Amino acid sequence: MAELRADVLVLGAGMVGVGAALHLQKRGRDVVLVDRHELAGQETSFGNGGIIECASVFPYMFPRDLGQILQYAINRSPQVRYQFSDLPTFLPWLVRYFLASSPARALHSAMAELPLIRRSLVEHETLIAEAEVPELLRRTGWIKLFRSDATLANAARDLDRAKQYGVAGEILDSKAIAAREPNLTGDFAGAVYWPAPGFVPDPGGLAKAYAALFKRKGGRFLVGDARKLEQVTGGWRIAGPDTTAVAREVVVALGPWSDLVFAPLGYSIPLSVKRGYHLHLAPRGNAALNHPVLDSDHGYLLAPMNRGIRLTTGVEFARRDAPPTPIQLQRALPRAHALFPLGDPVDAKPWMGARPCLPDMLPVIGKAPRHAGLWFDFGHQHHGLTLGPATGRLLAEMMTGETPFADPGPFAVERFG
Ligand SMILES: Cc1cc2nc3c(=O)[nH]c(=O)nc-3n(C[C@H](O)[C@H](O)[C@H](O)COP(=O)(O)OP(=O)(O)OC[C@H]3O[C@@H](n4cnc5c(N)ncnc54)[C@H](O)[C@@H]3O)c2cc1C
Repeated sequence: MAELRADVLVLGAGMVGVGAALHLQKRGRDVVLVDRHELAGQETSFGNGGIIECASVFPYMFPRDLGQILQYAINRSPQVRYQFSDLPTFLPWLVRYFLASSPARALHSAMAELPLIRRSLVEHETLIAEAEVPELLRRTGWIKLFRSDATLANAARDLDRAKQYGVAGEILDSKAIAAREPNLTGDFAGAVYWPAPGFVPDPGGLAKAYAALFKRKGGRFLVGDARKLEQVTGGWRIAGPDTTAVAREVVVALGPWSDLVFAPLGYSIPLSVKRGYHLHLAPRGNAALNHPVLDSDHGYLLAPMNRGIRLTTGVEFARRDAPPTPIQLQRALPRAHALFPLGDPVDAKPWMGARPCLPDMLPVIGKAPRHAGLWFDFGHQHHGLTLGPATGRLLAEMMTGETPFADPGPFAVERFG
């Protein structure tokens, strides 16, 4: 069996793993990127909404409003649904998430992540230029539509809060919505337009382009199962079907599957998932969608991907590996057809993915305390496309002894005891 020797193994070739591999490589590390698929960006990093959310100062919190909590409790919220049979599995996690969403703790999480959010688009711009794929970044910003005065008023308050942190945004009335998106139909109270975020019309393609850049610069890719990782004298080894890779250090960047490696090594980290679905539909006639548009009160996003209009759903609480139950997608479809001229589905069946989430809404980035050479980089929740390259930089700076551009303290795994 052939053996590759390197400085670092990065397990997982989603946006997070690829971002870490590129930043380590920039700092002179010889890296082997490992994934069970032959190509990068085939899982969660393939199926997202494509928004590089550099305006998202505040994380996705558990609601504190009683009306909304009741909607969740009776499972009628379009934004969130839970699989009743899985409730015992994730209820303790939900309680932690609820507690971490108190105004003070959520603000703490938001402030910890803000330097990463601010860095997110800049990091992508650099990598997109190096990878020579300018067509994969559109500077459209995105639009959140609101159907009721009450939800619009909440959004206006959020916008005012975000502006305190230097984020630009604008309230649109019906006329301004129609000017930006002439093909939308509906009764809107208004919208918020976020001009700064980037839009990626093929998120899986972007991860592949970054992996191609990594290979062009001498990086190696190994197809293998991360569960076969072994600690050996002086480092770590992983065996693929016909090649083994050995390195002094290893990074776990397996997104929602990171527990497959950290749990057998004895780490108890409250990683859970918020599942989501997408389906592409052809636009009817010449209808064009100019920005990603969130129909906020109905809980789905339409995004103009290269493959068609991608309808992505909100959150489903269910076990990562439970069979798909795309009920939110089925509920959203007639609403989406009423909003925008959509034709036939492009996909044979809906895609399902799982946002990797920690209850305090922050990823785990940093050194594993009980194993030499073991590093973590996972749990990017709703913002893994956005943050993959920025967290890759932070991790690589920590691993190579540079001064980190952001305080890594809040991301340390030790916060979970
Ligand atoms: C519906 C939806 C919409 C979203 N919209 C956005 C958005 O607009 N903007 C945004 O920033 N984020 C968005 N997200 C979140 C974002 O997609 C995720 O945070 C991000 O993709 C996580 O990246 P990752 O690299 O950690 O995980 P992944 O992309 O899942 O990568 C993990 C990798 O590990 C590999 N792997 C798993 N098990 C093994 C194994 N045993 N051996 C070897 N390899 C293995 C997988 O093959 C995969 O390549 C959305 C997510 C969803 C579900």
